[in-house]
Amino acid sequence: MSQPVLVIAEVRAGKIRQVTLEALQGARLAAGDSAEISAVIIGSGITGLAGELASYTSGKVYAVDHPELVSYNAPAYLHAVKGIVEELQPSRVFLGHTAEGRDLAPGIAALIGAGQISDVISIESGELYKRPIYAGKAFEEKRFLSSSGVVTVRPNNIPPATLAETAGEVVDRSYTAPVDLRSIVRDVVRKAGGKVDLAEAKIVISGGRGVKSADGFKPLDELADVLGAAVGASRGACDAGYCDYALQIGQTGKVVTPEVYIACGISGAIQHLAGMSQSRVIIAINKDAEAPIFKVADYGIVGDLFEVVPLLTEEFRKV
Ligand code: FAD
Repeated sequence: MSQPVLVIAEVRAGKIRQVTLEALQGARLAAGDSAEISAVIIGSGITGLAGELASYTSGKVYAVDHPELVSYNAPAYLHAVKGIVEELQPSRVFLGHTAEGRDLAPGIAALIGAGQISDVISIESGELYKRPIYAGKAFEEKRFLSSSGVVTVRPNNIPPATLAETAGEVVDRSYTAPVDLRSIVRDVVRKAGGKVDLAEAKIVISGGRGVKSADGFKPLDELADVLGAAVGASRGACDAGYCDYALQIGQTGKVVTPEVYIACGISGAIQHLAGMSQSRVIIAINKDAEAPIFKVADYGIVGDLFEVVPLLTEEFRKV
């Protein structure tokens, strides 16, 4: 690729998200080791993070630092990258397939007149992009026919980039919001979430309607603490009011690909499988031996989750 390759970084809670490093590695796989990969980082007070990001790529890291960019805002963030993509005319732009990346990617594709391949889980030689379709039941492989393209990569599938031999250069870019995009952020209030980011967690423990109440999540929380895992849920559990919809995994919730997924009291509806069936190892705990979740599980425990989960916690505490 003769034109530059660009990665749009994502920042959450003052840290570069892991999926940004995975997007960076995706860009390397697509463009080749010798290609210069640049990155854009947007936010407020991100100078230190820009320097950190520069240690992963020998290309330039464009830092757009402005108080109005403290939290994600689609038109403002698009405006922040506009000048950079118009100037560089990148052949490829990589983002994480996250709420932010999914929102921003089509806008960037429109800016540079590029096609887009979303939710990529691997990149084979010859720039062949693999992505799941039909709620994870099949895969398709795609190629760009156009000279420019935008790619979003699903978290936890492509290994993260390692440190570059030579750190890149940080380039500060100014930002002036057009009058109609000006906003004043008075406060950013985040919902209390688990300690581990669900989308990027290596282990996810999910509860379904089988947990029976909000208190029924407590044994799952305890196991999650011991394993350093994130807690998720089925829509059944969310609809019943046992937990927040932010935890929902599935077709209309988050898509996760952890190394280990532990489904507790979840029947295994197709819409739930759409969000977790690509997990590397699936463990199901359900008192109904006929529950469909056992068809996708690598390990199944037929039993009452309120007996099984505390036993697991006790055993893992000993390790
Ligand atoms: P249930 O199906 O009620 O299963 C509960 C399970 O718990 C049962 O298998 C039962 O045997 C077991 N159980 C009960 N007590 C215990 C116990 N003490 N110990 C062990 N096991 C026990 N669902 C999602 O999850 N995510 C989505 O994104 C999603 N999107 C949807 C989109 C659409 C358009 C539609 C129509 C549906 C969607 N659904 C989604 C809903 C989905 O179809 C199911 O209704 C939902 O996943 C069921 O949740 P559940 O497995 O927790 O509940």
